[in-house]
Amino acid sequence: MTAANVVIACLEPAAPEDCASQILKTLGLDAQPSAHWRRFGSTLLVAWPPPLRDDPRQSLRGLPGLRRVIHLPDGQPLYARWPLGACSTVELAPGLRCGGSTPLVIAGPCSVETEAQTLETAALVAEAGAQALRGGVFKPRTTPYCFGGLGEPGLAILQRAREQTGLPVVSEVLDLEHADPVAAAVDVIQIGSRNMHNSTLLFRLGAHRSGRPVLLKRGFGATVDELLHAAEYVLLGRLAAGRDEPGLLLCERGIRSFGQTTRYTLDPAVVPVIHQRSHLPVIVDPSHPAGSPQLVPALARAALAAGADGLLVEVHPEPERAWCDGGHALDFTEFRELMAAAHG
Ligand code: PEP
Ligand code: MN
Repeated sequence: MTAANVVIACLEPAAPEDCASQILKTLGLDAQPSAHWRRFGSTLLVAWPPPLRDDPRQSLRGLPGLRRVIHLPDGQPLYARWPLGACSTVELAPGLRCGGSTPLVIAGPCSVETEAQTLETAALVAEAGAQALRGGVFKPRTTPYCFGGLGEPGLAILQRAREQTGLPVVSEVLDLEHADPVAAAVDVIQIGSRNMHNSTLLFRLGAHRSGRPVLLKRGFGATVDELLHAAEYVLLGRLAAGRDEPGLLLCERGIRSFGQTTRYTLDPAVVPVIHQRSHLPVIVDPSHPAGSPQLVPALARAALAAGADGLLVEVHPEPERAWCDGGHALDFTEFRELMAAAHG
């Protein structure tokens, strides 16, 4: 947060034309664009006016079209204190919450490749005790000359896996144009490491009319502060959509460092640091930083010892034949062993 005294005004979708300018006037601001306010979509106006004499919640009370006013005192962004009530857990699907006393495991292939590969993996991870299934159908890839995901047909496969196992499904949205089909098919929307800085996407997915919770991964070149600022965009989206629950979990997946020992550098200390600074649940992906299946269990245990609220693990029936990220996927035996160790 750079601005003290932030005022968030949530407008009714059918607010009168002059509602925003009335709000700005009451806050002592000009309705012309300035560095003191910002509009997010049609239902959210955020302002950080100079110190105010009166409580803006009182002075704005009763303004036609204004649904709710939130006043953030200095250093208390939405990620640090959800103003609509204490929320330390996120409901991923009916009856499944992340952030409670028991960490949950989301597991599955990096990418949905075929129906057989996905259904087989889903059945195995369910039987081994995972609470949710992951599987990418829109894949961010470093080079254009490799598998980019099945796209929408992959969503139908994920839905069949959900029907067969009862596991809620997590899948990534790479671009706003995928938001509707992905939100219609899955339970949780993933925002990948490469999109953590895409503030428009963050806000729009937070505000998505489906209300699907968001799993936000840390950018591999991002600081914890930047991750938390990114989280703030998603949370503003939730407010813009009139949602009372934050519906957001964070995921640490390792960062680039000078070390070449592992694929990325995973710092488990990030988990308690985020827990100190935020009410949001934090899970850890031990697969992408590991770069090899042998290192995944140790990183998973380190994450759980650091207090992670869950794990996101890549599993494949035949890692050596995977179309994407086979280098660190666990095979079925390795995943069963990981689950046994995690519960032991
Ligand atoms: C993934 O989870 O498959 C993925 C692409 O991860 P990340 O965004 O962390 O690289
Ligand atoms: Mn992957």
